[in-house]
Amino acid sequence: MDADRSSFWRLTRDRSRGIAGFVRLMDRKALWHAFLPTDHALLLSGQRARLIISRVRLVAALFAVLTPLWIVIDLAFLPFPELLGRLIAARLLATLGFAALVLLLPDSERLRHAWLGLGAMMLIPTLFFLITHPALSAYEMEGFRRALATGYAFLPFVMVAGISIFPLTVVEAALIALPVLLAETGVALLEVEVLQWHDRFGALWLLALIAAVAALASISQLHFMAKLVDRSALDPLTEQFNRRSGEEMLRHHFELSARAERPLAVAFLDIDRFKAINDVYGHEMGDVVIRQTGDVISARLRRADVLVRWGGEEFVILLPDSTAEDACTAVRRILGGGLGHRPEGSALTVSAGIAERITDGATTYEDLIHTADLRMYMGKAVGGAHLVGPGNEESPEPLLP
Ligand code: GH3
Ligand code: MG
Ligand code: MG
Repeated sequence: MDADRSSFWRLTRDRSRGIAGFVRLMDRKALWHAFLPTDHALLLSGQRARLIISRVRLVAALFAVLTPLWIVIDLAFLPFPELLGRLIAARLLATLGFAALVLLLPDSERLRHAWLGLGAMMLIPTLFFLITHPALSAYEMEGFRRALATGYAFLPFVMVAGISIFPLTVVEAALIALPVLLAETGVALLEVEVLQWHDRFGALWLLALIAAVAALASISQLHFMAKLVDRSALDPLTEQFNRRSGEEMLRHHFELSARAERPLAVAFLDIDRFKAINDVYGHEMGDVVIRQTGDVISARLRRADVLVRWGGEEFVILLPDSTAEDACTAVRRILGGGLGHRPEGSALTVSAGIAERITDGATTYEDLIHTADLRMYMGKAVGGAHLVGPGNEESPEPLLP
């Protein structure tokens, strides 16, 4: 697949960039995508949010169990009542925080929820570190006790290394590591030390290095994920979005348009007398015609519109923020230049049906597609190569180049 066709950024403002650009990191726009999440394709963002949230939950659940368990060890080895009181209180608070995170973080495809979860997941141990570290440093300890206290000082390192399990952009990873780095800097500046390193900023330096490596791991996960989403979203024959990803996008756009009370149109296209091509010229020729049809349509789409290979020789175009009238205009423009020729030389035509969420009172995306499909058949009924939208069911409009 070349860069132009297999672009998981396709839903965004720039349709011309793809995974190949991302891999090579040569292209400014692709590099931008690795830095900032603002311009990612819908499918990628949704999958990423889901994965981040499920991992945040997993980590929070693990820590909600381990944090209070460690109280037993503190009680056994640290004979300082005042310190113990503080450590136990901090542990119980952290446990509550982690448990709340597991219970309250919603299953969601929104990055906002994922960021919220990540932020909380990092904030809880950062606060824990800020409370426990100065308390521990007030005590002189030797042997095993000292090792225990050192364990508390390692917390920021564990947290920063943990960033590597999430698929993140550079800016996200940096923003998440920042509070931990600041906490460590604050501690170093205050000269509170449990680790007696020659250079107290050595810890900070090491922490920054670990953060950089963790960020790299995060970005490579993002890249890998983008590749998988990309591959599973496209139909191998036409390299257009397949039905599964098309339905996911349609569902999302349907919700968005309902929430914003904006129109959403779909066009259902079906190649006329396609079976005859298969029957006379063979299945492979049929495949060529399907691919060519997808290519021609996708080359004429506006940036915001999405082409989906819905079934065998059926395509659906999603037209966000378009009225039925806008969609009819778009379909006339797209099909007006012709779709090329059938193998025997006559013009290749499609029948098209258009439906729009508000005009047609559709309550689900399935409704919307169903209506467009019915109208497409009305175009077939008068011999094919006709366009039917809301209002012209009685008099389908001829669609000839
Ligand atoms: P109409 O004008 O009413 O649309 O008739 P049609 O022949 O285009 O439609 P019909 O639904 O009867 O036939 C569609 C055919 O498309 C049947 C199926 O074998 C063929 N088909 C489905 N998927 C593929 C594919 O991936 N490649 C090829 N070559 N043919 C396919
Ligand atoms: Mg068909
Ligand atoms: Mg057909």
